[in-house]
Amino acid sequence: MEEAREVRTTCPYCGVGCGVLAKIAADGTTSVRGDPGHPANFGKLCSKGTALGETLGPEGRLLEPEIGGRQAGWDEALDLVAEKFSRAIAKHGPDSVAFYVSGQLLTEDYYVANKLMKGFIGSANIDTNSRLCMASSVAGHRRAFGEDIVPGVYEDFECADLIVLTGSNTAWCHPVLYRRMLAARGERGTKIVVIDPRRTATADACDLHLALDPGTDVLLFNGLLAHLVQSGKIDSDFIRDHTSGFDATAALACADAPSIARVAKGCGLAAADVQAFYDLFAETDRTLTAYSQGVNQSAHGTDKVNAIINCHLATGRIGRPGTGPFSVTGQPNAMGGREVGGLANQLAAHMDFADEATIDRVSRFWKAADIARRGGLKAVDMFQAVADGRIKALWVMGTNPAVSMPDASRVRAALAKCDFVVVSDVTRTDTTRYADVLLPAAAWSEKDGTVTNSERRISRQRPFLPAPGEARADWRIVCDVAARMGFGDAFAYQAPAEIFREHAALSAFENSGERLFDLGGMANLSDEAYSAFAPRHWPASERGERQTRLFGDGRFPTPDRRARFVPVRQEATAFTVDADNPLALNTGRLRDQWHTMTRTGNVPRLMANAPEPAVDLHPADAAARHLKDGDLAHLSTRFGFVRAKVRVSEAQRRGQAFMPMHWSGQFAARAAAGLLSSPITDPHSGQPELKHVPVRIVRENTGWAGVLITRRDLRPTGFVHWSRHAVEGGWVYELTGTEPPDQGILLARKLLGVRQQDQFLEYTDRRGLAYRAASIDDGGAMAEALLVGAPEQLPARDWLVSLLATRQPLSTADRHALLSGRSPVPTPAIGRVVCACFHVGINQLASAVASGCDSLEAIGATLRAGTNCGSCRSEIRAIIDARHVQAAE
Ligand code: SF4
Repeated sequence: MEEAREVRTTCPYCGVGCGVLAKIAADGTTSVRGDPGHPANFGKLCSKGTALGETLGPEGRLLEPEIGGRQAGWDEALDLVAEKFSRAIAKHGPDSVAFYVSGQLLTEDYYVANKLMKGFIGSANIDTNSRLCMASSVAGHRRAFGEDIVPGVYEDFECADLIVLTGSNTAWCHPVLYRRMLAARGERGTKIVVIDPRRTATADACDLHLALDPGTDVLLFNGLLAHLVQSGKIDSDFIRDHTSGFDATAALACADAPSIARVAKGCGLAAADVQAFYDLFAETDRTLTAYSQGVNQSAHGTDKVNAIINCHLATGRIGRPGTGPFSVTGQPNAMGGREVGGLANQLAAHMDFADEATIDRVSRFWKAADIARRGGLKAVDMFQAVADGRIKALWVMGTNPAVSMPDASRVRAALAKCDFVVVSDVTRTDTTRYADVLLPAAAWSEKDGTVTNSERRISRQRPFLPAPGEARADWRIVCDVAARMGFGDAFAYQAPAEIFREHAALSAFENSGERLFDLGGMANLSDEAYSAFAPRHWPASERGERQTRLFGDGRFPTPDRRARFVPVRQEATAFTVDADNPLALNTGRLRDQWHTMTRTGNVPRLMANAPEPAVDLHPADAAARHLKDGDLAHLSTRFGFVRAKVRVSEAQRRGQAFMPMHWSGQFAARAAAGLLSSPITDPHSGQPELKHVPVRIVRENTGWAGVLITRRDLRPTGFVHWSRHAVEGGWVYELTGTEPPDQGILLARKLLGVRQQDQFLEYTDRRGLAYRAASIDDGGAMAEALLVGAPEQLPARDWLVSLLATRQPLSTADRHALLSGRSPVPTPAIGRVVCACFHVGINQLASAVASGCDSLEAIGATLRAGTNCGSCRSEIRAIIDARHVQAAE
């Protein structure tokens, strides 16, 4: 038997980039824990990271290549990909092909994909799903600093006295970083201001929440700049010595936002709150402004980024401990993608297409005579080009544009029409349906390479499991195709270490300090050193300069070494709400889910907190539409429609709605937020406006509801609405229809899967309006249960779900109770799960609070809730606070 071993790797989810220790026990079982030695997380993990060990099973994995849905060998599949791409290029030119890649790729994967497209195919039609995530930050950085640089490091969150979180639900989307800032706040009393239209979990725990109208961020920050100027709180020396463009920028800001009253009115805020924010900012030297998708995912995202940076430049609050603008990235390797040039408008290693000398430099380094000489199509434009036939062959790597792209119906139609679509991925997704060739890629636990987190820290992802079936590393697949296209010499890598060394060498090539992205000091890493690589920041030049925080010397990578103020003004949104679409829809993330749920959706404890696709509505908006909690709503925008359950929430501002972006066709009938979202993009960054689209929401007049609790993995068809969530031992399918109940029963019964050896029980009420069925396997355990009726008649699922999990023979009492769906021993339902780690439900928490547990510590001591990953602590805090408010009334 093999000895137990522990492998240091990095979490594959968000841009915090937490270190993970994966332990493979002697019996082959695996478990994960936070790496105490990793400087991003010091051993902590959030709910998603904690559950990584539960995502490693072979279920749903793609195991061999497929051509047109049939199994194929690698050689046949790769030959076909190379032939189709080569033929399209020969006939229609290099711009007739495209790669759409992902922030899930490792830097080495990204590097070879970018090199193949830009260097050897000769087109820049490679773009990444990071376009949807942080392209506006890239564009904003480049406008202000001359290069895509995040100046700060995570320690800045711990030594700031004021943290402004704008467009960032950090508590849910970057939980470990959030916990670091809360811990520091406990010690130094850091003030936290949250700027977000929604009262998120992050806003719940802040000192000041500015629930501004969507899209008014430029006005708010222009107002701040005007206030800083008018109150004499600018750093004139810094402005004079290290920046350019201040006067014009300040003049425009003062014209755009001449008074606090004007800002308050324009942003939909109380003037006193705006004043309080401005005063705090003006008076606090150590101020850090962190921003994320709420800023980036906008038709004016780049201007928002520059409006923020302008305020930091005006106060000289950049490059010093606890200061600076700080873009927190969504994906684990969004930064790595930016570094290699994975965005269509970048060339490689922070070089772009701006001048011939740069293009020539990269061309010489790669020995690539046919290098692309201009930028390529950004994501939204790329899929438009697929739709109108300009792109004949598309390769999608590790991403799911059929769900995540805005105006997703149009993207699906484009994929269906495209002459040749290759998808390399780990599992089947809504996008793999359109693949002419499907290539099985290695997953997180099998991958070998590097990622860069939000603070420019490069860490290793190391494999600790063998790839199943015939799955291969992405870099290997790309190189194999490149060789078949005739570029073998330039892609003859034998290991990711070789690719990394070349990437590092390119960053240092003819770079005497003009480009801060410089990994020259790592260009000669031995295989052993690469293998043992400890997390470290870049720059890491061969000159040996070691810097963590950047711009402390007041020098910026612009031609004159000065940072640039960028004059911006508040612009109107492209689409405004009107009588047809009277609500503003915002989209975003859930606490326990990742992207389109391809991994997290299969983990029962990660599905427990929000098991169904839901739209959040303010109580008044819900009431106006005769909607209550749990009702099925029909949401439509000018781009498409979806259905989701209603969640009435005081956290939602009136006139606005919120829907998570995770739900795909693998988990629900039609609930992908991308089907609703606007493809309008920012003119500078090409990032689409995913945070705002006018929407109409009406009640679906449902005739029946049902629940199927089963061991089987199904994709129902023919239902107006279904969704499913993983539970221990199987799945729960929530079904809803607009048909009369008797027809609903007929439909739902089609899902039953009774085997010959099973015992089958069923019951229909006298009027044919309610139906119950269950099957019991030959071991006497419940295999499946189906309950159909009026929604209010359906019991809580807890007991039936627990029977599925135990697989124990049913007692006589249990058998008798089975069709009722209610335990013969009355047990209170725990309600929606709040603490995923210890499976503690909202009813248990409410009852503990009612009986005197009035602090997080008391709840933790009683129920353990909130004592592991801590992701649920803000929700527990809200339950405690709600009880306090109730008691005071
Ligand atoms: Fe992974 Fe959570 Fe850390 Fe993000 S905060 S890297 S999701 S463990």
